[in-house]
Amino acid sequence: MGEDSLTQDLVCGMMLRVDKVKATYTYHEKVYYFCGMGCLERFKKEPDKYIKKEKEKL
Ligand SMILES: [Zn+2]
Repeated sequence: MGEDSLTQDLVCGMMLRVDKVKATYTYHEKVYYFCGMGCLERFKKEPDKYIKKEKEKL
């Protein structure tokens, strides 16, 4: 248990528990987690947009 069990939904920014997550999507061999199908669908349309946003924050 710890911070490694949390992940962020890149679409809406919500923090999610990996073991409770309902929607996942594998892109470029990395797994992304979403709060629901709505965010998953948005990510699928423009994955690079959301991934880029995440990198800019760091
Ligand atoms: Zn979401």
